[in-house]
Amino acid sequence: MNIIKAEHLGMCFGVRDAIALAVNTARREPLTVLGDLVHNETVLAGLRARDIRFARQPGEVATRTVMITAHGASERALALARGQGLNVLQATCPLVHFAHRTLAQLVQEGFHPVVIGQRDHVEVRGLTEDLAEFDVVLSAEDVARLPAHPRFGIVAQTTQPVDKVQYLTDLIRRRFPQSEVRLRDTVCQPTKQRQQAAIELAQRADVVLVIGGAHSNNTRELVNTCSRHCARVHHVQSAADLRPEWFHEHDTVGLTAGTSTPDTLIQQLEAWLQARVAMPAEPVLA
Ligand code: SF4
Repeated sequence: MNIIKAEHLGMCFGVRDAIALAVNTARREPLTVLGDLVHNETVLAGLRARDIRFARQPGEVATRTVMITAHGASERALALARGQGLNVLQATCPLVHFAHRTLAQLVQEGFHPVVIGQRDHVEVRGLTEDLAEFDVVLSAEDVARLPAHPRFGIVAQTTQPVDKVQYLTDLIRRRFPQSEVRLRDTVCQPTKQRQQAAIELAQRADVVLVIGGAHSNNTRELVNTCSRHCARVHHVQSAADLRPEWFHEHDTVGLTAGTSTPDTLIQQLEAWLQARVAMPAEPVLA
């Protein structure tokens, strides 16, 4: 068995910085994080062990200080938390801030805002909650349901694949040939690099392992992308998910990971695979 790793494997800077802010703050004072800091159970368990608490709503927060995750939040959500007397720390990734500013600018210029992304994802909610009207699309069916507007201003959730963003934008252009359709690229650089590296990996591998949390959008998108180039793709959250029957003796196994996957998990998976490489082959019975 031959093991190859995609480029750009470790955690992205946005998630790393958010974790560092949470850990450093929790050393000084009790801290609650609003929502999932990362979509990775192993990392979350480590943070809980440092007494960092997690809440879904500001009403559930029992500490004075609350932290917004790298996914960001709307001004309305921030005001709600501050209105409850909470000290709000923002770990919003600068590239999510960029998406917020870009969308606000399009609205200011008179475009009807359209976000390409998952309607219920915390980042998309943060992008749209302050808007009087907007649409969120993620499929051709969503585009078919869009009402007409003279001008559409499009941004994407930062972790969407660029080819999907381009495809949906082209569909909107074809559906509304009389409208002005402006796309502003808000897919983040770490996502673009990972997606490209995953394509190259999947084209070379017999089997691909995508390591990341079950609820991680960028991990799911990596699985989709790899599946277009390789027939045997498995989404795993840790080495415990690996099954020996997935691998054959002469396979080239490719490894890639979502932006919130810690290096330790990647190393554990690699160690599991290396142990299989080192194992003597089963004797062939005559
Ligand atoms: S995936 Fe991109 S936008 Fe999200 S935290 Fe990482 S770098 Fe920032």
